[in-house]
Amino acid sequence: MKAVQYRAVGSAPEVVTVPDPEPGPGQVLLQVTAAGVCHSDIAVMSLPVEAIGFPLPLTLGHEGAGTVAALGPGVVGVNVGDPVAVYGPWGCGVCIKCAAGKENYCLRAAELKIFPPGLGAPGAMAPYMIVDDARHLVPLGDLDPVRNVPLTDAGLTPYHAITLSLPKLVPGSTAVVIGSGGLGHVAIQLLRRMTATRVIALDVSEDKLALARQVGAHETVLSNDGAPERIRALTGGRGAEVVLDFVGAPPTTSIAAAAAAIEADITVVGLGGGAVSVGFGTLPYETTVTSPYWGTRAELIEVLDIARGGGVEVHVETYTIDEAPLAYERLHAGKINGRAVILPDP
Ligand code: NAD
Ligand code: ZN
Ligand code: ZN
Repeated sequence: MKAVQYRAVGSAPEVVTVPDPEPGPGQVLLQVTAAGVCHSDIAVMSLPVEAIGFPLPLTLGHEGAGTVAALGPGVVGVNVGDPVAVYGPWGCGVCIKCAAGKENYCLRAAELKIFPPGLGAPGAMAPYMIVDDARHLVPLGDLDPVRNVPLTDAGLTPYHAITLSLPKLVPGSTAVVIGSGGLGHVAIQLLRRMTATRVIALDVSEDKLALARQVGAHETVLSNDGAPERIRALTGGRGAEVVLDFVGAPPTTSIAAAAAAIEADITVVGLGGGAVSVGFGTLPYETTVTSPYWGTRAELIEVLDIARGGGVEVHVETYTIDEAPLAYERLHAGKINGRAVILPDP
C-alpha cells in the first residue's frame, strides 16, 4: 500500500510503498477514511536526530479515522465495519493516569516505548493502519470522518485546554486565542459553544482572521507588538482572563504575558519554543501558566458529541495521498486555512 512517510532527518515527507499491515493479537486493522495534517508533524520533522526519540522511517498521521477492517486474535468491543476515530495519545492502559483515561499523561509510555500513531508508531496517512488496542477507538456513528477527523487532535487539544479554565470563562470575561489555524479555529468555536466569554482572536494573516470571525470570534487583532495594547483597549484595561496560545513562539508568549488579566490563565499549547516567565512582578497577580498535551479519552468522546450537536464545524481542505507532501508544504507556508485532511484510497 502507499504511505506518507518521514524517512530521514531533515527530508520532506514522501509517498512510498510499504507492506500491507496485519493485525497481531489484540490489535485492530482500520481502513483509513481520513487523516488530518497537524503542525506538530512539522515540529517533529524539524528536530535534530538526537531529539526524535523513535526510529525512522515513520508513517505520518496522528489524526486518524477509519472503518474497522479486521480484528487480531482476542479483540473484543469493536466489530468489522464500525466507523471509528482514533484516540491518538496511546499509553500503557494500566498506570494511574491511564486508569483515569489520561493516556496522554501515561507514566510509563516513554519507558515502554509506546508512541502515538504518526508520532512514533505507524500513523494514519496510508490506506490501512494498525491500532494497538480497541480502547483507542471511539465510535464515530453518523459523523462524517473527513470533516471530523481533525477533532481527534485539533478538537481534543483545545477542548482539554478550555476545560482547565472553565471557572474563569464566566460572562463578562475575555478569552484570547493566539493563532487561528487548525487548533485555533476549533478553539474559537468550542469557547463559543461551551462558555459565555468574549473571544478575541489573533493571527498574522488576514485570511485566518476572516475565518476566525466566520467561526465566531467577537474581535480579531493582528498579532504584532501592538496587540497587547489593543487587547487592553478592548477589555477596558483589564486584559484577558484566559489566553490560549496556539503558536507558543517567543513573540506570542510575550503577547500572552502582556495581555493577561489579574488571576488569568495562560495556556501555551503551541510548540514554538517560547516561554512565559513566572515570578513576583513578572505577571499580573496570581496568573497561572500551563502547557498541556492533547486530552483524555473521555474528552474526545465529549468533543465528538459537541460536533454531533452542530457545535463545531472544522474548516477542511482535502488532499489525495499523493498530494500529502503538498499539504505539508502549504501548512509550512501558512497557506492552509482551517485543517488539511488526507484521503487515502485503498
Ligand atoms: P496551524 O499552522 O494550523 O496554525 C497556526 C496558526 O498560527 C496559523 O494560522 C498561523 O498563521 C498562526 N501564527 C503564526 N505565527 C503567529 C504569530 N506570531 N501570532 C499569531 N498567530 C501566528 O497549526 P496547528 O496544527 O493549529 O498547531 C498549532 C500549534 O499547536 C503548533 O505549534 C502545534 O505543534 C501545536 N500543537 C500542540 C498540541 C499539544 O498537545 N500541546 C497538539 C496539537 C498541536
Ligand atoms: Zn497534532
Ligand atoms: Zn499508563
